[in-house]
Amino acid sequence: MKALVKKFAQPGLWLDEVAEPQVGINDVLIKIHKTAICGTDVHIYNWDAWSQKTIPVPMTIGHEFVGTIAGFGSNVQGFQVGEIVCGEGHIVCGKCRNCLAGRRHLCKDTQGVGVNRTGAFAEYLCIPASNVWHADPRIPLDVLAIFDPFGNATHTALSFNVLGEDVLITGAGPIGIMATAIVKHAGARYIVTTDVNPYRLELAKKMGATVALNVKEKRIAQVQKELGMKEGFDVGLEMSGNPDAFREMIDNMCHGAKIALLGIPNQEIAIDWNKVIFNMLTIKGIYGREMFETWYLMQTMLQSGLDISPVITHRFHYTEFEKAFEIMRSGNCGKVILDWEN
Ligand code: NAD
Ligand code: ZN
Repeated sequence: MKALVKKFAQPGLWLDEVAEPQVGINDVLIKIHKTAICGTDVHIYNWDAWSQKTIPVPMTIGHEFVGTIAGFGSNVQGFQVGEIVCGEGHIVCGKCRNCLAGRRHLCKDTQGVGVNRTGAFAEYLCIPASNVWHADPRIPLDVLAIFDPFGNATHTALSFNVLGEDVLITGAGPIGIMATAIVKHAGARYIVTTDVNPYRLELAKKMGATVALNVKEKRIAQVQKELGMKEGFDVGLEMSGNPDAFREMIDNMCHGAKIALLGIPNQEIAIDWNKVIFNMLTIKGIYGREMFETWYLMQTMLQSGLDISPVITHRFHYTEFEKAFEIMRSGNCGKVILDWEN
């Protein structure tokens, strides 16, 4: 079958012919229809320091996907051939304390599809049945293809109550943009979403930001004044990984505020811990999605009127993957979809 493979330990990706996956007794075989490109895939393409120490070579990459069931192992029940599914790309050990307690998102030995094991940028993907999500077939395939990052956005955005609250979101990448739409859907009052990229700020505005702020032009404190806010933001969602964004967030929170950190910094960040202590801030790290409560909420929010489709800005056939990665690298995009049909 065709697959996008990290074939050599150097920058690039290779469209290659690889063996179809072996289906174990607990596995589901998925015929891939659409995949989406994540920032992680761009890191792997670029072959940065993190990828060099993490990614086995050769390996098929990719972890954001939707497809139909093509087969399953003898132990698997409750799935039908032809059913539309997407899936959780974090494969947990099932044996550690958190897994046994049902807190699978806190597994200490998570393996990532397309990161530590063969991925979804291929005609077929095989994953354990316990990682497969029965999709609502009324949801468009493009939207189902981005359930993984939509899940990151949902897990972060719904970590703390936002009903009636003022929310600061730093970073209007695809995940920050989706988080903007989610907190709007969940009843936040003011949503200030920041970035330095005008294309993405435009999308954030379209998806429900009260103010989409370019931090190259104005300070967050000034926006608070203009909105008539008096005590600072109640909830902060850090989605840029940028040290200055995190520090400016801490400076703009109310006493007792809650911060959820999703953005992955590429260096250590120094902050003024006195502000955390004396302002009694709660800071929570977020990784992946809760299995499967986050998935449940994603689906029910879409069924109750949330529309995240504007975050999808580009679509390519998988053979045009070079163009798709180029647009991802430019930053002038939301989510970019690769089509594996025909
Ligand atoms: P992205 O890189 O596309 O978005 C980050 C955005 O932050 C960019 O638009 C960038 O212009 C913006 N930015 C840069 N400097 C800024 C500043 N000073 N202030 C405000 N914004 C600034 O990434 P994404 O796909 O939207 O993901 C968001 C973040 O979450 C990334 O850091 C990513 O690595 C991380 N992530 C974490 C998890 C997890 O499980 N913890 C999962 C997926 C992604
Ligand atoms: Zn575990």
